[in-house]
Amino acid sequence: MTRVFSGIKPTGHLTLGNYLGAMRRWAEVDQHRSDALFCVVDLHALTVDHDPARVRRLSRQAATLLLAAGLDPRLCTLFVQSHVDEHARLSYVLECVASDGEMRRMIQYKEKARREQARGGSVRLSLLTYPVLMAADILAYGTDDVPVGDDQTQHVELARDLAVRFNQRYGHTFVVPRATHPAVGARVMNLQDPLSKMGKSDDSGPGIVYLLDEPDVIRKKVMRAVTDSGREVVYDRAAAPGLANLLEILAACTGGNPEDLSGVHNSYGALKADTAEAVIEILRPVQARHRELCADPGQVEGVLREGAERARAMARPTVDAAYRAIGL
Ligand code: ADP
Repeated sequence: MTRVFSGIKPTGHLTLGNYLGAMRRWAEVDQHRSDALFCVVDLHALTVDHDPARVRRLSRQAATLLLAAGLDPRLCTLFVQSHVDEHARLSYVLECVASDGEMRRMIQYKEKARREQARGGSVRLSLLTYPVLMAADILAYGTDDVPVGDDQTQHVELARDLAVRFNQRYGHTFVVPRATHPAVGARVMNLQDPLSKMGKSDDSGPGIVYLLDEPDVIRKKVMRAVTDSGREVVYDRAAAPGLANLLEILAACTGGNPEDLSGVHNSYGALKADTAEAVIEILRPVQARHRELCADPGQVEGVLREGAERARAMARPTVDAAYRAIGL
């Protein structure tokens, strides 16, 4: 059986990027084909300035949305990272095989550190070491596949490097994981700035579609998406990134391919209208199920409690083996 692990950070409201790049595939494919774990990685939310009550609320909301998106606790394990001590325990050991230089080379670190400094804040040490904690999340479970969007490729590479290095130095302990990406939707861009990814941390941006946005709000955001100055609908990521983003979103929602879809629309307005409706349709069942789950919070609690127990039992033997191997 292939072991799959992936996670989502409770740093903001979940977006269409999270859904198309990761969550949908977790529900439709990954939980069925494999022994899968999905985690709300709340420790990662502490790497930047945050409000504790909000992190708690967003963790619960992320778990509820993952269930609403179709994760089934009979098929997979859904849990919250901080409920399982093994993640932090393994992270420290992996810090002892990671180097300072390889951490500083991480693109997301450079970007986020710059953002924190621009806000006048200091950069938390945990922001630098965050990819090591992510490697621990993955390696603790003997993970083979990590289904993620494109933005996480470099971090999964680091997990691979650390696994190989640890195994070479201290004896075979970890499975070496690999990242897997969806064919379309691996990089959903901000509708107002198609050169930046649609990220949930930039709260309430007009270029971000949130999973719980009302249909009218979605329509407005998509209709106001920045396109290019031409008139013809072409699929060209470099020359016309705004259009390419809309075509990819439409393709990801309808199962088509962006190249073919560019031939179907004769105006930007028509493409936007179709894309808005496709997004509304794909989110409709998720929003309906979310409403049902919110009416029964005990159900989500129960899933997370049981998930943490299962996850703990799976992680402990690997983490214990790593401690023994490194000399403890
Ligand atoms: P965020 O950047 O929204 O904080 P996370 O780090 O929580 O996202 O990532 C959760 C999953 O969603 C990851 O697999 C990530 O690759 C994916 N993801 C996030 N944003 C996008 C996007 N704009 N397009 C495609 N996938 C994305």
